[in-house]
Amino acid sequence: SVPLSFFSAIGAISKKGVLVKGANYVEKLTEIENIVFDKTGTLTKGVFEVTKIKSFGISEDELLKNCALVESFSTHPIGKSIVKAYNKELNLKEVSFNEEISGLGMKAKVLNSDILVGNERLLEKFGVKLEKIEDSLNVVYVAINSKFVGYIVVSDIVKSEAKSFIEELKKLNILKTFMLTGDKKEVALEVAKDLGIDEVKYELLPQDKLKIYEEIKFKTAKTTAFVGDGINDAPTLANSDIGFAMGGVGSDLAIKSADIIVLNDNLNAISDAIKIAKKTKTIVY
Ligand code: ADP
Ligand code: MG
Repeated sequence: SVPLSFFSAIGAISKKGVLVKGANYVEKLTEIENIVFDKTGTLTKGVFEVTKIKSFGISEDELLKNCALVESFSTHPIGKSIVKAYNKELNLKEVSFNEEISGLGMKAKVLNSDILVGNERLLEKFGVKLEKIEDSLNVVYVAINSKFVGYIVVSDIVKSEAKSFIEELKKLNILKTFMLTGDKKEVALEVAKDLGIDEVKYELLPQDKLKIYEEIKFKTAKTTAFVGDGINDAPTLANSDIGFAMGGVGSDLAIKSADIIVLNDNLNAISDAIKIAKKTKTIVY
């Protein structure tokens, strides 16, 4: 049975902005040895800003409008930033079909055109030939009727508390930190190096995240937490030893799949929760 003080620990942890879904997770919190993080929206703010628009054969405004129409149906932070950048009224009835392809982008029909908005892999998947472009980081590619018509550059920033939080984890006996991301190599390596994350894997699809998480668990034989925010993190959150969903820009599916929800979106709340759980446990035993 669960010690009664674990319930009061849940109360203390909730004051730090963290919702623990069951008293059994208080004990689990004390056992964490590895932490695996998603990148976008978890270690970074996940609030992107459009910094550049480049179009070929159509106007920049038309490119942005089509993207904004399509991204209105997306829950992804990149999608939200594109809708915000357009900043004009949209007639969503013009979109007769839309599908969010997790880890790749959006596929949609706007009026009579088939639109793709996403990364290089999305366009490659649908056989669109890409031209070489000079920008490298965070590029959203756009195709209309299977033709590459331009791209949008977006940028994200690392959460201000992320670096000190990763350092703090070492003091809490967390042995190793990992980052798994759907994002490109260059962005992934830069963020991991900046924050002092021990191991990083990039350009992953949602099913890759779960597979690699399970490999880490198997290889290390340690209690391994997972922290994420997106629909692409939900399968891993649901299958992790202990799963944290970031509540800021996080998707409903991630929140449903997690054991613990960081309502205030601040990474320090995770180390606070671990500290409270460990303190409670020393009192119990
Ligand atoms: P992360 O694992 O870092 O949170 P995701 O798996 O959510 O990243 O996304 C991986 C990549 O897929 C993004 O960097 C982006 O290139 C692309 N992507 C996903 N959803 C969208 C979208 N709605 N619009 C444009 N690009 C998208
Ligand atoms: Mg994410």
